Amino acid sequence: MIISVASGKGGTGKTLVATSLALSLANRHPVQLLDCDVEEPNDHIFLSLTVDQSWPVYVAVPEIDESKCTSCGTCSEVCAYNAIAVIKQKVLVFPELCHGCGACSYLCPESAITEGGREIGVVEMGNSGKLELVQGRLLIGELMAPPIIREVKRHIDPTSHVIIDVSPGTSCPVVESISGSDFCLLVTEPTPFGLNDLSLAVEVVRKLRIPCGVIINRVGVGDERVEGYCNEQGIPILLKIPLDRKIATLYSKGIPLVEGMPEWRPVFLELFGEIGRVASVGATRQVGGEGLPTRRVIT
Ligand code: SF4
Ligand code: SF4
Repeated sequence: MIISVASGKGGTGKTLVATSLALSLANRHPVQLLDCDVEEPNDHIFLSLTVDQSWPVYVAVPEIDESKCTSCGTCSEVCAYNAIAVIKQKVLVFPELCHGCGACSYLCPESAITEGGREIGVVEMGNSGKLELVQGRLLIGELMAPPIIREVKRHIDPTSHVIIDVSPGTSCPVVESISGSDFCLLVTEPTPFGLNDLSLAVEVVRKLRIPCGVIINRVGVGDERVEGYCNEQGIPILLKIPLDRKIATLYSKGIPLVEGMPEWRPVFLELFGEIGRVASVGATRQVGGEGLPTRRVIT
């Protein structure tokens, strides 16, 4: 089963949930934790494992053969990302904007464009018992997260349970990360900002037709509006995590919740069971079956 853990905004506790779920399951099953928050991968901080393999990720960028180029401008016209321009008979390439789509080289009438490689980041891998971590890391100053996320996901082991820690927000890296998941956990907090960003994240997962459920973290800081929204939308609230100084202290020290407070381990195992139940009903619903089950809350 592939479960992505996402949030409309940063700082909601997504990493706490992803690492706690992965560590709880890894006592019983092979588990892969994919850290696709490639601008700031930090799951490794919470896991007692060392990275033992890494390899670079490249994207294709156009290289111009000036002896063939006639400055016709076709490459500039077809580039949707403004990554190539023809100015004063000279072709300029802006590699940091290039998405490596290949349109310019394909459509150049003079075959004056070939594709070179540009390193944009790395993928790293490490193991601890039944838990395997695969994480992507963008190089500083690079913007193109999706190719690194694709490379991380290329190493999904279909015999393991897979937990994907998704970057915050609702942009392209989020869509790339959660696509293909069996279920998406949306972690939020009970505040107006949390509600606003949760509603945006729900739109994304619904467009991708992925069943979802909500985890409300830091219960006690805000109000009831997130719960009201979930009830209105028929989205199950699968877990509430209270605002608790001890939980915050563990997190600040890089100690996983389920290791610092082992009483949470069965809670995350129960959460996993609940996800399986909701995901199977959600899948039935998509082909015309019954609706989602009655909401159930683990506290
Ligand atoms: S499309 Fe080819 S020939 Fe035309 S300006 Fe670009 S590189 Fe030069
Ligand atoms: S490969 Fe695609 S994104 Fe890059 S310059 Fe060519 S057309 Fe633009």
